[in-house]
Amino acid sequence: MTDLLPIREAQERILAVINARGSEPCKVELAIHRVLTEDIISPLALPPFNNSSMDGYAVRSDEVSNASPSTPVTLPVSLDIPAGFAQQGVLAKGTAARILTGAPVPDGADAVIPIEATDQFKNPQTAPMQGTVGFFKPAKAGDNIRLAGEDVQLGQVVLEKGRHLLPQDIGLLISLGIREVQVTQKARVALFSSGDELLLPGQPMSPGMIYDANTYVLSGLLENAGAEVIHLGIALDNPESVKNTLDQVLQNPPDLIVGSAGVSVGAFDYVREVIEANGSLSFWRVNMRPGKPVAFGNYKSIPFVGLPGNPVSAYIGARVFVLPIIRKLHGLPPFTQHIIQAVLDEPLHSPDGRESYFRGVIRKEEGVYHARLTGHQGSGNLFSLVQANALLIVPGEVTHIPAGETISAWSLDPELN
Ligand code: AMP
Ligand code: MG
Repeated sequence: MTDLLPIREAQERILAVINARGSEPCKVELAIHRVLTEDIISPLALPPFNNSSMDGYAVRSDEVSNASPSTPVTLPVSLDIPAGFAQQGVLAKGTAARILTGAPVPDGADAVIPIEATDQFKNPQTAPMQGTVGFFKPAKAGDNIRLAGEDVQLGQVVLEKGRHLLPQDIGLLISLGIREVQVTQKARVALFSSGDELLLPGQPMSPGMIYDANTYVLSGLLENAGAEVIHLGIALDNPESVKNTLDQVLQNPPDLIVGSAGVSVGAFDYVREVIEANGSLSFWRVNMRPGKPVAFGNYKSIPFVGLPGNPVSAYIGARVFVLPIIRKLHGLPPFTQHIIQAVLDEPLHSPDGRESYFRGVIRKEEGVYHARLTGHQGSGNLFSLVQANALLIVPGEVTHIPAGETISAWSLDPELN
C-alpha cells in the first residue's frame, strides 16, 4: 500500500498549485455567493432618518406624561405621516401626528405612542384621520423611534474583503444604495465523462449501456459551490476521443478540468495516458475508499483532476479534492468539514486500512447521535448515497471499529447540527 498517497498529502499537493482568481465587478443583485475582494464602506447611515417602529402617534413626550386609562390626554391631530412621506415638517406644540411604521418622525416629536394605547385603536390606519386622539399611556423620550444611524454609520466598514456574500448581505448592500461590488471571478471548470458504455439522458437504454450519472452529480456539486461549468461531453475509450474532448478547452482555457473514469488500471483507461502524453501527472492513486484511483496533474498546463468512474467514488472524490480547489479559486479559506461525533450502531470494516467513507444515516436519540450504514456500500451504488445524510469516516490504518464506539461522521445535510 506504500504507493498510495495519503489523502491529506494529495490535497496539499493539489492546493499548492491553485491560486485565487482575479476580481471583477458584479451587480449587487447577482452577487449572491460571490466573494468580496474589497471592503465595503457605508455611503449612508442606516436608518437614513429617524423613523417610527410602530403604527401610532408621534408626540412630545412631556405633553402626555399624565396620560392613563382613567385620565386620557387628548390632543388635536395636526399631521398625517404615511411611509414614504418626504416632508417631515415640524410637529406643532400641543398636537400629535398620526404616523405609520417606517415613516419619518417629524421634528419636535420625541416619542411614538402605539395605536393600541389610544382611543383610535379600533379605527384602521387607513381610515380618515380623526380630529383628535386620546392617549391612555404616557411615553418616554425615544420610545418607538428608530434613530438615524443606529444600525450603520456613514463611513463604517460593513462587509470585509473575503466575505462570502449571503442573502442578508445583498439586502444590506441594496439598502445602502450600492449598485456594484468587486468579487472574485467565478471558477471556470471544464467537465467530462469517459467510457464507451455511457448514454446521454433521453437516449434509449440498450444492453451493456448505462446513463452518464457523473456529469450531473459533479456539475451539481460544482454549481452549488458557485463555479461555472463548461460541459465537454463524453469521451470514448480511445486516446483520440479523449484528446479531442480535452482540446475543446484550448480556445478559452478554464481554471480546472475535471473528468471521471478512465484513470485506473483497466485496459481501456486512456485518460491517464493522454494526460501523461500532453502534460504531467502528479499522482493517480490515493489511500482512500471508495475512490482510490484519483488522479491529479495538468493537461497542456491546465490543472486536471481525474475522478474514479463509479458514481459514489466520483462524488466523494469531488467533495474531498475538487470542492477545496473551487474554494481556493474563489479566495475562500480552506473548507471546514461539518463533522459530527456519533455512536456506531453496527461495526465498520475497512480491511485494507485505507481511509474510508461509508454512506450512513446519523440521527439523534435522547441527545446523542447514532450512526448506521445505508445498504450495500458498493462504490457504484448511488442509491446508498441518496439514502445517506453523512459519510462515516474510518481513519487510515484502522481496519475495524466495533458497534458502540464513537466515530466521526461528515454531515452531508446542512440542516443537521
Ligand atoms: P472506469 O473508471 O472507466 O473503469 O469506470 C468504473 C465504473 O464506473 C464502471 O462501472 C463504469 O461503467 C462506471 N462509470 C464510469 N463513468 C460513469 C458515469 N459517467 N456515470 C455512471 N457510471 C459511470
Ligand atoms: Mg471506463
